[in-house]
Amino acid sequence: MTADLMDGAALAREILGQVAKRAADLTSATGVTPCLATVIAGEDPASVTYVRMKQNRSRKAGIASRHVGLPATATTQDLVGAISELSADPAVHGILLQHPVPPQIDERAAFEAIAPHKDVDGVTMHSFAAMAFGDPGFASATPGGIMRLLDACEVSPSGRHAVVIGRSPILGKPAGMLLLARDATVTYCHSRTRDLPVIAATADILVAAVGRPEFVRGDWIKPGAVVIDAGYNPGNVGDVAFAEAREVAALITPVPGGVGPMTIAVLLDQTMDAAAAQVTGTPGAGPG
Ligand code: NAP
Repeated sequence: MTADLMDGAALAREILGQVAKRAADLTSATGVTPCLATVIAGEDPASVTYVRMKQNRSRKAGIASRHVGLPATATTQDLVGAISELSADPAVHGILLQHPVPPQIDERAAFEAIAPHKDVDGVTMHSFAAMAFGDPGFASATPGGIMRLLDACEVSPSGRHAVVIGRSPILGKPAGMLLLARDATVTYCHSRTRDLPVIAATADILVAAVGRPEFVRGDWIKPGAVVIDAGYNPGNVGDVAFAEAREVAALITPVPGGVGPMTIAVLLDQTMDAAAAQVTGTPGAGPG
C-alpha cells in the first residue's frame, strides 16, 4: 500500500481565500481592518521566521499585523504588561504570543494575559477548557488544523482509536481532546510511555507531536492507518519516517505541506471570527 497524501497546503490555500474574502467584506462594510498582533520575546531565529510567515500570510489575506518585540531579557511582568495592553486595545482583534519564551518568563502567565475573545491561537486556559468540554471556543491552532484536515479527507474519528504521541499544552493535549470531542477513543503517549511502538500499532489515527525527527517508524504503523505528522524539525523533517510510513498507512500528511500550513490558516480564520464578533457583535461570529 502507498498512502495518499493529505494536502494541507491546498486546503490552507482554500481557507485563506475564504478568509481574504471575509476580511474584504468586513472592511468594506465597517471600515475596520481585522488586526492580528504578534508578540515575540527574544530573537530565536525559528520564532522570528514563524512570525514573519504569519505576518506575510496576514497581509495577503487583508489582515493587518501589529508586532511587539521584547528583548530576550524581558521579565514576565514586561510580557504580561505588553499583552494586557493589546488585550485592552479595541483596534487589535487577535493576539499571538510566539512559543517558546525565554526561560526566565512564566509562559503560562503570559498566555493568560491574552483576553479570551482575542485568543485566536487557542492557548489560554479558557480556550483549553472549551476544547475539553466540547464547548464553543477558539481551537488551539495546530490541533484545529489537524481536525479540519481530517474532515477534508473525510476521515471520521468517531469510534476509531486515536493515539497521540506528545502531551504539550499547545499541541498534543488539545489534539487528543478535539479527537475525543469527535468520539474517538483516545490514548496519549509521552516520554514515560512503555511499549510505545506496540501502542502506536493499534492506532487507526496516529498523531505524532514529539519534536524528534523521524521518531515514528514504518513498522509502528497499523496497515491502513491515518498518520498525522505534526512535527517540524530542522531540514523540513517531520516526526514520522515518511518514506517507511507511506508504505503502510492509507493517508499521511507530508512535511512540509501537511499540518504546518493548516496552523496558519486556522490562526487567520479564527482572527477573522474574532474580528467579526468584536466589530459587528454578530451572534455566532465569535469563537465556535
Ligand atoms: P514539546 O512541548 O517539546 O512536547 C513534546 C512531547 O513529546 C512531550 O509531551 C514529550 O513527553 C513527548 N516526547 C518527547 N520525547 C519522547 C519520547 N522519546 N517518546 C515519547 N514521547 C516523547 O513539543 P511541541 O511544542 O508539542 O511540538 C512537537 C512537534 O510539533 C515539534 O516538532 C514542533 O516543531 C511541532 N510543531 C509544529 C507546529 C506546526 O504548526 N506544524 C506547531 C507546533 C509544534 P513528556 O511530556 O513526557 O516530556
